[in-house]
Amino acid sequence: MKYENNLVVIGAGSAGLIAALIAATVKARVSLVESGAMGGDCLNTGCVPSKTLIASAKAAHVLSHGERYGLKNVVGEVDFAKVMARVRDAIATIAPKDSMERYESLGVRCLAGHAKVVDGHTVEVGDRRLTTRRIVVAAGAEPFVPPIPGIGDVDILTSDNVWDLNELPGRLAVLGGGPIGCELAQAFARLGSQVALIDMEDRLLPREDPDAAAVVETVLAEEGVEVLTGHRATRIDPDAITLDTADRSGKRVPFDRILVAVGRRARSTGFGLEDLGVQTNRDGTLVVNGALRTTSPTIYACGDVIGPYQTGAVSAGSIHGQDDPISLDGNDKDPCGDIGSDGLRDGCRAAIAICGEGNVKSMSVTTDKDGTGSVSVTVGKKGGEVTGGGGSQTTTDIVCRGTESNDSGSNDSGSSDSGS
Ligand SMILES: Cc1cc2nc3c(=O)[nH]c(=O)nc-3n(C[C@H](O)[C@H](O)[C@H](O)COP(=O)(O)OP(=O)(O)OC[C@H]3O[C@@H](n4cnc5c(N)ncnc54)[C@H](O)[C@@H]3O)c2cc1C
Repeated sequence: MKYENNLVVIGAGSAGLIAALIAATVKARVSLVESGAMGGDCLNTGCVPSKTLIASAKAAHVLSHGERYGLKNVVGEVDFAKVMARVRDAIATIAPKDSMERYESLGVRCLAGHAKVVDGHTVEVGDRRLTTRRIVVAAGAEPFVPPIPGIGDVDILTSDNVWDLNELPGRLAVLGGGPIGCELAQAFARLGSQVALIDMEDRLLPREDPDAAAVVETVLAEEGVEVLTGHRATRIDPDAITLDTADRSGKRVPFDRILVAVGRRARSTGFGLEDLGVQTNRDGTLVVNGALRTTSPTIYACGDVIGPYQTGAVSAGSIHGQDDPISLDGNDKDPCGDIGSDGLRDGCRAAIAICGEGNVKSMSVTTDKDGTGSVSVTVGKKGGEVTGGGGSQTTTDIVCRGTESNDSGSNDSGSSDSGS
């Protein structure tokens, strides 16, 4: 059977962009479908805006503690509207790197629209039907809003819309003491909000090392954040959140705005996968094997839709075209491990798993002392080289170069397939 595409990638966030780019580099015919903004969370609502906000917050903090740094008579005032304009500028500056125009110029066919998986070889986008040998689902995740009584009547902030603020909230309640809750609590406190950080766990950052989490808690408290761990939210009214306390006396925390950051939910439903019986884990992430293949043999997945904790050993299994992860020791190294964020690494792994499929001839990794990673992968007759900025959180610094190998191996990036 002939297919129009070797690969259709659903979602143009970090994972989907890099998967599409690597596939195009090894001369696969690849279509990339995005229903929202190119660049996904990392560019539009995640790494880029948050790290830009944090940079302004850090500058404000340093200036307001100028004497610690040997500075005298430093005065400064936060202009929050300008801080947020800078955040939006940062996104706009990077956006061309993740744009359809750029990806088209790199050999990726880009389509705007909502993708629906019809079967293992067909993706629908509006009235267009794309046939394909393989599909990569890189649909990401979205903020989870817990069903706390009253929450539906409150204009909540999440990591999706907090970037639209133009006025600094006087009192900000942050619900959720994970990485996003902690970093935004600190940033807003440094910019001048009175912040309460609430979590029902008995400590912040429950997935992190307890000693490291304790340091974060101490620093936040020193910077004026009211840290309320061990408090479960029982009701949210438009001006206050009610918390359950150990002694059951209850506590009301008044706020001007509330930011809900209690976790993120994988986008694994609503575009056909459930109709095909593609399995999910209890938390909604897609079940994948060591080669990032879902329970449907032609559908792969990467990035936040499978969860953020993929390991190097898993990816090495993918590189070698095996279903089972192999152990990594000695000189073996995750070839995608030095590239940017989890999403980028996963996209790299998925593309290599599919385009390589047991036919990877060689791979090598170098890391410069500035953290810049370089990955070379030779796949059968054709090779691809990927160079990524290790410190980069976006695809900005990712460059792919296609190279011909002298190897007469038999990888065929043409579109025939037995459907296996
Ligand atoms: C506030 C915040 C700060 C963060 N900071 C960092 C950080 O400092 N470092 C770091 O490494 N990570 C950070 N992250 C996490 C990082 O943003 C994500 O891990 C990364 O963006 C995941 O990439 P992805 O490609 O899997 O998903 P996404 O970026 O979410 O992309 C998925 C894309 O798929 C599209 N899509 C979904 N369904 C369909 C469909 N049916 N048809 C077409 N398109 C579809 C969506 O519109 C979306 O654009 C942060 C996240 C947040 C929220």
